[in-house]
Amino acid sequence: MKPSTIAFETLLEQLPETYTPADRELVMKAYAVAEEAHREQKRHSGEPYINHCIAVASILAELKVPAEVIAAGLLHDTVEDTSVTLADIRRDFGDTVRLLVDGVTKLTHLPRVSHDAKDVGKGNGADEKVIQPTSLGRKEDMVSETLRKMFLAMSENVDVMLIKLADRLHNIRTLGHMPEHKQKRIAQETLDIFAPLANRLGIWQLKWELEDLSFRYINPEKYKEIVGQLAERRPDRERTLEEIKDKLIKLLEKNNIKAEISGRPKHIYSIYKKMRDKDRTFNMVYDVRAVRLIVPDVPSCYAALGLIHTSWRPIQGEFDDYIAAPKDNFYQSLHTAVKYDDKRPLEVQIRTPEMHLSAEYGIAAHWRYKEGGKQTDKNFEKHINSLRSMMEWRTDVKDAAEFVESMQSDVFKDRVYIQTPRGDIIDLPSGSTPIDFAYHVHTDIGHRCRGAKVNGKLVPLYQELKTNDSVEILTAKRGGPSRDWVNPSLGLVKTQRARSKIKVWFKKQEDEQNLAQGRATLERELQRLGIKETNFENLAHNLEYKTTDELFIALGAADLSISKVIKQFAEAEEIKDILEPNAPATSDKKSSGIEVVGLKGMLANMAKCCAPMPGDEIVGFVTRGRGVTVHRHDCPNILKIQDRERFLKVDWGHAERTYPIPIAIKAYDRQGLMVDVSKLLADENINITNVSVNINRSIADLRLMIEVRDLTQLSKILNRIENLPNVMEARRTNPG
Ligand code: MN
Repeated sequence: MKPSTIAFETLLEQLPETYTPADRELVMKAYAVAEEAHREQKRHSGEPYINHCIAVASILAELKVPAEVIAAGLLHDTVEDTSVTLADIRRDFGDTVRLLVDGVTKLTHLPRVSHDAKDVGKGNGADEKVIQPTSLGRKEDMVSETLRKMFLAMSENVDVMLIKLADRLHNIRTLGHMPEHKQKRIAQETLDIFAPLANRLGIWQLKWELEDLSFRYINPEKYKEIVGQLAERRPDRERTLEEIKDKLIKLLEKNNIKAEISGRPKHIYSIYKKMRDKDRTFNMVYDVRAVRLIVPDVPSCYAALGLIHTSWRPIQGEFDDYIAAPKDNFYQSLHTAVKYDDKRPLEVQIRTPEMHLSAEYGIAAHWRYKEGGKQTDKNFEKHINSLRSMMEWRTDVKDAAEFVESMQSDVFKDRVYIQTPRGDIIDLPSGSTPIDFAYHVHTDIGHRCRGAKVNGKLVPLYQELKTNDSVEILTAKRGGPSRDWVNPSLGLVKTQRARSKIKVWFKKQEDEQNLAQGRATLERELQRLGIKETNFENLAHNLEYKTTDELFIALGAADLSISKVIKQFAEAEEIKDILEPNAPATSDKKSSGIEVVGLKGMLANMAKCCAPMPGDEIVGFVTRGRGVTVHRHDCPNILKIQDRERFLKVDWGHAERTYPIPIAIKAYDRQGLMVDVSKLLADENINITNVSVNINRSIADLRLMIEVRDLTQLSKILNRIENLPNVMEARRTNPG
């Protein structure tokens, strides 16, 4: 038998006993497809690629996940690395498996945009996706983007996450075969991201192995040192622990409590972390003996605790009741520490078998209790919902690096438990401040937070909250957050949840300001150009804004320039005929110059009374004997006319021609003003056909007739004139 066949036989034996024949069938079929697809591929170690797939499935089998998840584990690299397609998988395995494989494939897809045959080509079997810098951005950006996608996927489908974690665990188990320069990076990423993720899902079994194996590559010297010390001290330690266990068992039996007692294995990385964080020596960390009691039910937990506390003196501050107040990853236990016979500390954890499984397998404990009843199903739901609420901000944060930081601040951090004045308990990431707390209670309380009392005393808003703190927020009647709150160097706000809400508040304020300013800018410009009636909705629509508010906000925020709006005016293809909205259009073709709809070739004159120009809304008026005269639709002469039969719908053509437009310039008189104005017009190739100047108490009133092409050019020229020294105003006036 081939080694991979033996490995698969072992997997079959590991499958949960609860599997039906159909479940086992599904797993076998998945193996057959994966084995064939990966047949020619090898891993870095030289072994067949399929061994990796079997190993991933086997890690999943240990979690007792449903058969579909095991099948997806076997198939997890087929779509990415072989000719198998998602359609094939749907046909052979159904929608659930397809969804899972698709989810895992999507998580790994991004870094593969740059296919480098040497690193990721088919057949070399490196499962670690090699991340190459590409035109999409820097390496770090792509790593962050992958992680962002992963966390989003996590909040959608936990099974996808489990497969990904199993995949990573096997990769880190076999990291020794990877090129050295990749080992450290992969190990660091595992320690920073995957282990905290396993922790958040409560899967301690995955977490400790991910941590210890990563640590081995990140700090090999320290790792070896601790392993050596552990081996040296083990026999001695095991003897002491046996004594303690005997004593405890006797004590409990005498009081009719059945208990299973085990020494608690200490993991290498957790020993290292304690040494580093609490600045302790190996002996100080290692010498703390720790035992775990598993008793049948919750009353027995407290009974055992009472017995232990009356037999040995409890150490102050070491008692935690995680049964009454479970940790945020739903961990439950009683924790205490006592001074043992030899006056040295002994740590004790007490829990029920159900709590124990949940402590080891976290979210995955769900399947071990499948038959167990509704309670765990409810916990499973609660667990998933709490993950989602921790990531409430997830769709707001688009920047990948910020997203990963937010995961680290809001999701991976340990939690602290804070009391509200009403006695409710709220859990927050450790390091949270009163402002974070306020936003967690209610967005509006966050906005109006002005001070805080912790345990009855006023504290500064940057004070970090601790478990059991009782917090009362002092609020203003109205008002909003301070800009300082989002200044990272002040440390006033630590959670992304609060940051997101503060940003939304400021965005809304800005929107309101920008809206007012944008509207004022546009109205002023329209007035200056002599445009009286405007359909803002059409304008917004033509400029591709959903609402007029959006148009004004864009203008106010300078995302849209006023000249672009004016250009849109000038180019508007359809200028609404407000005089005859129902007039049938008999021709919609445009010719050069002015077209008079339905009366092609008829003579058209520009009315002298209102001097219309392209961009203005216009109307044709049939004169007696002089053809059609074109007026601005708001020309006072036109508005007076009752005889609607004589109006015609007219439109502007596209030909180059100019229109005489009267403008007025108001300025503090100075030498050379007129020279500057005429030079400016000459630069723009604009003719001046008439000039008059009036000076009254050193205010100059210049009246010019200029020949311009359209509104855009007029707007531009008025702007430039207004920017000349001493000029107060330049605007279009009415003729005459
Ligand atoms: Mn893989």
